[in-house]
Amino acid sequence: VDKEDSENEEAKPPPLAGANVMNIILIAAECAPWSKTGGLGDVAGALPKALARRGHRVMVIVPRYGDYAGAQDSGIRKRYRIDGQDMEVIYFHAYIDGVDFIFIDIPSFRHIGNNIYGGNRVDILKRMALFCKAAVEVPWHVPCGGVCYGDGNLVFIANDWHTALLPVYLKAYYRDHGLMKYTRCVLVIHNIAHQGRGPVDDFSYLDLPPHYLDLFRLYDPVGGEHFNIFAAGLKTADRVVTVSHGYAWELKTSEGGWGLHGIINENDWKFTGIVNGIDTIDWNPEMDVHLKSDGYTNYSLDTLQTGKPQCKAALQKELGLPVRENVPLIGFIGRLDHQKGVDLVGEAIPWMMGQDVQLVLLGTGRPDLEQMLRQFEGQYNNKIRGWVGFSVKTAHRITAGADILLMPSRFEPCGLNQLYAMSYGTVPVVHAVGGLRDTVQPFNPFNESGLGWTFDRAEANQLIHAMGNCLLTYREYKKSWEGIQRRGMLQNLSWDNAAEKYEDVLVAAKYQW
Ligand code: ADP
Repeated sequence: VDKEDSENEEAKPPPLAGANVMNIILIAAECAPWSKTGGLGDVAGALPKALARRGHRVMVIVPRYGDYAGAQDSGIRKRYRIDGQDMEVIYFHAYIDGVDFIFIDIPSFRHIGNNIYGGNRVDILKRMALFCKAAVEVPWHVPCGGVCYGDGNLVFIANDWHTALLPVYLKAYYRDHGLMKYTRCVLVIHNIAHQGRGPVDDFSYLDLPPHYLDLFRLYDPVGGEHFNIFAAGLKTADRVVTVSHGYAWELKTSEGGWGLHGIINENDWKFTGIVNGIDTIDWNPEMDVHLKSDGYTNYSLDTLQTGKPQCKAALQKELGLPVRENVPLIGFIGRLDHQKGVDLVGEAIPWMMGQDVQLVLLGTGRPDLEQMLRQFEGQYNNKIRGWVGFSVKTAHRITAGADILLMPSRFEPCGLNQLYAMSYGTVPVVHAVGGLRDTVQPFNPFNESGLGWTFDRAEANQLIHAMGNCLLTYREYKKSWEGIQRRGMLQNLSWDNAAEKYEDVLVAAKYQW
């Protein structure tokens, strides 16, 4: 027993009891705050804590991309075969906020640098396969607080294609052989656009029995016959969750399923849509640590009318924009790619620049879109800031300081920024798709209901139309505007709600057969 574990034992919740109390292990390629490129990292950081608060024993397994302070070498070493080679795996452990975190150290994670999904297709495939293999046996080998989880009352939650091999290995190496008989796996789809596709030969890297190949083999008009990890994960998982009802529906259509809609429809009975929650400590205007300096301030619904303008002024000052209270400040935060529709903002710039507005864009991604941001800033220096980079602090400050958040995503499984925005009294203008449609009810001036503005097609003219109505309300109808802000801030968007729904799915995976 490792010293750190025995010291932490006192902080553990009381012994677990009750019919539905489970051991839950979430496995993901990224987890905030250690590693995050998008929403998946946020979910992996927050959902486990919410499940632990409900009384479950909860673990997160993530790669050890760096030397994380506070994570101790558990002393456990195992070897797993990948592509014919035995690789050593080292398990690190930390116990934080009621959750056990296991960081898996393998040589190929150590040299990735900042780009955790970087490298060629085969390298990524091999390291994710090794990661999944090494994860399945954690509950057998790695003591947490002195005691291993065991596999008796266990459910895994795998996330996206990177860990979709977990239910496959669970079946092929264990359950097919009478091991881990009561262990189940739920697979969560955060984004179907990435599937772990490759040529059929990729199967040889996985060390699976030959008859497993059929699970991976997929034909679609775009890729022809190919190898598809998500396909195998969807077939072998006991239940599937996706991150909104709207996205669950879209996945079943030929446009939204990206070649997997056939399999998704066949496995329809496994599916549930659950909208992500938000971390109400991290993303809370009352406590946000990024609002404690540089002229920003924490605020709540009660202090919205003074706190938010102060944050807006601080943001304008920090970014070198004219400090003006009454100019609508529009924000955009997100990966710069086709999905997020920042190019539509680009198309709308001539119209927007005809308005008295300020625009702040934060993102990284495609070089041409990064260049577009820089160019806008140069061209409209007193109105636009195009911040190319990944800055959590700046994301928080824009969310607090902006009046309006723009999300013209072409598709959006859930979307977190609109949720953060609403809880900060920032009004979202979104393309009504996937999770955006589920979470942003359009403003209705006749009965003063709704949370923001939506548009039906991802086109610049539609965005302009919605923005026009939004700006009109901002300028002319202050009471309506404050009502929208209020309703946004009063919602309960916490993970506690979503965790309860996850629990129902986990119980179903475990007991409903
Ligand atoms: P996705 O997972 O598709 O990228 P989400 O809206 O679900 O989109 O989550 C995006 C998360 O990543 C949010 O927490 C958002 O604030 C953050 N984010 C995206 N781009 C940046 C950036 N350039 N700097 C800081 N945070 C960012």
